[in-house]
Amino acid sequence: MKAALMYGPGDIRVEEVERPACPEGGLILKVVSVGLCGSDIRNLTTDSRAGDYPWTYGHEIAGIVDEVSPSCTEYAVGDRLYVYPAGHCMECEACRRGHHEMCENLGKYGKRPGGFADYWAVHADHLATDAVFRLPEGTSFDRATLAEPLSSVYGCQENIGVCTEDVVAILGAGPIGCYHAKIARMRGARKIILCEINPGRLEFARKLDVDAVIDCTEEDPVEAVLRLTDGKGAEKVISANPSLEAQQQAIFMARRNGIVVFFGGVEKGALTEIDTNRIHYFGLWIYGHYGATSMQVQRTFELALDDRFRADEIITQRMGLEQINDAIALARSGKAVKVILHPNGGGEEPR
Ligand SMILES: [Zn+2]
Ligand SMILES: [Zn+2]
Repeated sequence: MKAALMYGPGDIRVEEVERPACPEGGLILKVVSVGLCGSDIRNLTTDSRAGDYPWTYGHEIAGIVDEVSPSCTEYAVGDRLYVYPAGHCMECEACRRGHHEMCENLGKYGKRPGGFADYWAVHADHLATDAVFRLPEGTSFDRATLAEPLSSVYGCQENIGVCTEDVVAILGAGPIGCYHAKIARMRGARKIILCEINPGRLEFARKLDVDAVIDCTEEDPVEAVLRLTDGKGAEKVISANPSLEAQQQAIFMARRNGIVVFFGGVEKGALTEIDTNRIHYFGLWIYGHYGATSMQVQRTFELALDDRFRADEIITQRMGLEQINDAIALARSGKAVKVILHPNGGGEEPR
């Protein structure tokens, strides 16, 4: 089979490798669709495994069961599945407190090869968690993969309670920022302001159902948000990008008693200088967000497949696995928003 092997930062080669053996109690999934995530791009272009290569990434996976271990009775060849990359154990302290997104046992899944390959092994311990979803007949594998990036966005906005009273300012119009805009609309936000610096992404953002798109290279985004909110600022500000400067700006976009979320990860070890007087005197609430609870993962899977939500609106390219390097370049340049790869052939989604 073919797999995309990372040999070092930015050195990704699609090569012929041995198909994984079916794990005891597990199954082999024929990968139909796998999303290229911002975190994949970061991992593939930096020394993410500290010299331990080759390695295969890819965690937004949907496909068809191709082989089942005799001791796995729940699934059969031909089943259409979406597998959330990390199952929640439901046993650790975090899970038992309802914070599945902080599950202490998520880590092990990242130690197994990912889905940028024709076939992907799903192990028994993964199947035993809440991570596996069946795709109803006729639904889209591409859309199912989008449940993964969508889940943390959905979780974030549910946690901070985005509602009809809110102006929501979003910094960053990548796939995550675009999803924040779509979810905020779904939750009834009265005004959505999307801020971006990249020309390609700005062009794409203007096609979305948002109230204002701010080109940060032309207008200071803090001034823009104040201009659009009668000088008051936004109720909810979400920084969905890897920029330290955007985190500083986010504080000044929030209105009194507003909520600021640091959603996007920044460079490892990088520190942001924040005007804490602003936080203090404005009574701001600062949150971090990562992941989703079991219920949020479930709800998002349904949402991703829902015709009314149109999760695939943010897909700009569908490509074969062998084009993974082009896909990364397109995403990094801003010419792509979301790229879905189809390992087993074709640019169009196989049904
Ligand atoms: Zn992802
Ligand atoms: Zn747990």
